[in-house]
Amino acid sequence: MEDRAKIGSVIRQHLEAEQFFAGFSVRGQNDAGEFQEQEDDMAVTRSAGELEKLAEEVRQCRKCGLASSRTNAVPGEGNPDARIMFIGEAPGADEDAQGSPFVGRAGQLLDKIIAACGLERDDVYIGNILKCRPPGNRDPRADEIIACLPYLQRQIELIQPEVIVALGAHAAKTLLDTTKSIGELRGQFHEYYAGLGQMPVKLMATYHPAYLLRSYSPENRRKVWEDMQKVLTELGLPIPERSRR
Ligand code: SF4
Repeated sequence: MEDRAKIGSVIRQHLEAEQFFAGFSVRGQNDAGEFQEQEDDMAVTRSAGELEKLAEEVRQCRKCGLASSRTNAVPGEGNPDARIMFIGEAPGADEDAQGSPFVGRAGQLLDKIIAACGLERDDVYIGNILKCRPPGNRDPRADEIIACLPYLQRQIELIQPEVIVALGAHAAKTLLDTTKSIGELRGQFHEYYAGLGQMPVKLMATYHPAYLLRSYSPENRRKVWEDMQKVLTELGLPIPERSRR
């Protein structure tokens, strides 16, 4: 009888001990998770600040002749923590007037492409190789690219995207340092090397929205969708139903 009372008391103590400890979690792990989140938030705030400083530098820049013909420089804009960076060739007339990238008809088409991917413009970062408009939308010259490229390289370093989408031949050829055509480059991942000691970034080349507007064939549209679907798959993002068709 006495033994049974002892056993009952021991069981009660065990149950009480289990209930007492049930509400606890492993404190070290939670702290580490929260600490990491705080670190990440601080890093994003830091790169947003650095990007804004860089944008101001671009607005004041006079390193090439385009400074004298521009209305506004177009540094680029978007999420400082973007997983995808879209990079075009140079601002056009609408972008030059507003100081924002891809805001004309080609920009509206890019917005549709981003939306079809299940994303919003605020999720990504959008920029150009050249930050000022070449007069009459002529092709960028080598000396202008050499003068301007360090701004984009710095933006890529700060944002650290997982994928760069190069829009059109000029952006793709410049970033990949190749003379291959956009037809040869699109549809497969390449690697963009930001510099010595830095990890390469996956780069998908696709047609520029302005080219798509000029040649809006079902085949070209399909090719751009295919390219974007590869980007979504690479990032582990779902492919929205409409884009699958
Ligand atoms: S195109 Fe680039 S390098 Fe030339 S003035 Fe504009 S910001 Fe400066």
